[in-house]
Amino acid sequence: MAGKQWDAIVIGAGPAGASAARTLVAGGMSCLLIEKKKLPRHKMCSGILSDWAVDFIHRKFGPMPEEIYCHPGFLNGIALHFPSLPDPVVVPSRHAIPNVWRSHLDFFLTKASGAKIRDDLALQNIEPQPQGGFKVTCRPPGKTGQNRAVSFNAKYLVAADGGNSPSIRRVMPEAFRGLPYGTGMQVHYRGEIDLDPHHYNVFFHLDIGFYAWANIKDDDIHVGVGAMGNRKLPPYHANFVSLLAERYGFEIHETLLREGMTGVMQAPVNRFTLGRGNFLAAGDAAGFIHNGGEGISCALTSGDLAAEAILTAERTGQPALDVYRRIARKEVDLCMDQTNPLRMVQASPFRMDMKAVWKKHSLKEIRSIWQDLKAFGGQDNGLSDVGIGAVAKKNMIYRLRHGHYPIQL
Ligand SMILES: Cc1cc2nc3c(=O)[nH]c(=O)nc-3n(C[C@H](O)[C@H](O)[C@H](O)COP(=O)(O)OP(=O)(O)OC[C@H]3O[C@@H](n4cnc5c(N)ncnc54)[C@H](O)[C@@H]3O)c2cc1C
Repeated sequence: MAGKQWDAIVIGAGPAGASAARTLVAGGMSCLLIEKKKLPRHKMCSGILSDWAVDFIHRKFGPMPEEIYCHPGFLNGIALHFPSLPDPVVVPSRHAIPNVWRSHLDFFLTKASGAKIRDDLALQNIEPQPQGGFKVTCRPPGKTGQNRAVSFNAKYLVAADGGNSPSIRRVMPEAFRGLPYGTGMQVHYRGEIDLDPHHYNVFFHLDIGFYAWANIKDDDIHVGVGAMGNRKLPPYHANFVSLLAERYGFEIHETLLREGMTGVMQAPVNRFTLGRGNFLAAGDAAGFIHNGGEGISCALTSGDLAAEAILTAERTGQPALDVYRRIARKEVDLCMDQTNPLRMVQASPFRMDMKAVWKKHSLKEIRSIWQDLKAFGGQDNGLSDVGIGAVAKKNMIYRLRHGHYPIQL
């Protein structure tokens, strides 16, 4: 079935898609936002909002409604757990950090965009048209959708469909080839745990993957681990659960949900995928990510910039991708700053009080932390296989010499 002609179609109703759609609609374009899941949809995420994300949402979308917040609604810092210290090292935040449910946040943003929303509809195919523009074919996900394909046409497309971007895989199949990928597993439990719910908890113990976190949202305890490539997640997760039981009195009463994700890693190996022609990518799809996995703020910003590039292209006749490459440069550099030891503290999307940490801990404790970090970084957890550390070091030196990073967009 052939559909209506749109100025722009945005694929994916996360923060990048909602932000792109909002800017396109505000700029006077007709915009269709297509989302695979039924909205409001669950998204595997800790839902911790950085200062940058909060600033952006307030500026562009207005105040956030009450119902997006979990309990506790705000965190006051990040707790870093090291094997050799009995208590966590708490890095206090200079601002209260919103702790939200992504389902509600993203639904609020999506509705506020003003775009026409089609949810429960998964992208199947994108065909560039000889006269320019694209034909986008979708159908409801799952078996029931076999014969219910619908198609839409648009002059511009924004790929905002997450870290594994099906739309990039269709339009630019070569873009993700050879890239390392990460996987994550998170389980939601009901039970008891001796962790302060006002902190986001990160653990630097061995054999629990390259990233392990635990946080409390309403009555749920979320316990997650991340790993590289084909390393198996369940053993890391089991080790982590045992550690939480031993050291933090974790008792499981009920297992509510098990979830997993996989996504290509672009920024850590100096790659971004901004698009091709009138097809622009934003958010996780394009590779925008910050330190510690904070990706909401750069998804919002890059979605907005992709839409700005389209509006500028329409106004001036310049190619949209050229404009996007130019105006997204600052955001790309910010992402790279996140892995540059010389810039990561000042460029953090969270305003953390690092001085409070140095003041609170003795030299002996700081030495122990350093040794724990060395052991954590030295373990065989896959990060070194893909040379992420080496790229970060090269970038740090390159930026010192040239004032910018060695990345071609
Ligand atoms: C475990 C975990 C914890 C995280 N915690 C935080 C955190 O606390 N704070 C933070 O800032 N960031 C966090 N992040 C990162 C953050 O979740 C992402 O960076 C952010 O969601 C990126 O937004 P996006 O709009 O690019 O993509 P997404 O939010 O992933 O949105 C993409 C959308 O596209 C849809 N889609 C996919 N395929 C199709 C298709 N075929 N057709 C139509 N639609 C499709 C998806 O259903 C989804 O709704 C976390 C990530 C993970 C994995």
